[in-house]
Amino acid sequence: MTPKSFTVDLTKIKGGGEFPCPRCNKLISPEDETEETYTILDTIMDDEDHLERMVIQCNTCESVINLEGFEALAEEEATGIEVSDALPDSKTGYRTLHTLTQEGRSLGQIAVEYAQKEDVQAFKRIRKLRLGEPFKATVTLVAAEDASVKREDLSPITKEIKKRFKGLVNQDIYLMEEKGGRKTVIGKASDL
Ligand SMILES: [Zn+2]
Repeated sequence: MTPKSFTVDLTKIKGGGEFPCPRCNKLISPEDETEETYTILDTIMDDEDHLERMVIQCNTCESVINLEGFEALAEEEATGIEVSDALPDSKTGYRTLHTLTQEGRSLGQIAVEYAQKEDVQAFKRIRKLRLGEPFKATVTLVAAEDASVKREDLSPITKEIKKRFKGLVNQDIYLMEEKGGRKTVIGKASDL
């Protein structure tokens, strides 16, 4: 077999990061440091000295494999932000409610609305909405008595929401702050 070159995005791999060689299907585990199944050819770091890319070679078929997605993986682990499954009060395909937590600590909740026939019609000229697609999210962040929600905390939250509800863009995400039972508008994610 002549060597070939492939790219593998680690963020698309489930579980422990193992993946079959795109060519010969031999299972490669980046965590296997013995390098029995592969050889590291190169590691590429970003400006901040984080691992950006790794080039390895399959020991079985000699294919060269570019491993990508290290930064996205690290980021995901670092924020610890999680969106819950739909809460019992939800109406699938219409409006779903979710809690937002960070490392188990409650941040607030999210209401997601999905495009109905009339929404698809109303948006027709400005945006191509598909029936049942999420098109609005209202995020209510509960602030502690003595502190406000920090702006720099919002970006990882909106990122997580967009990842979870495919189709949502920053303009669809409305952020609110709840403090002592009173709600105030923070703004749209696109205005931050
Ligand atoms: Zn191979």
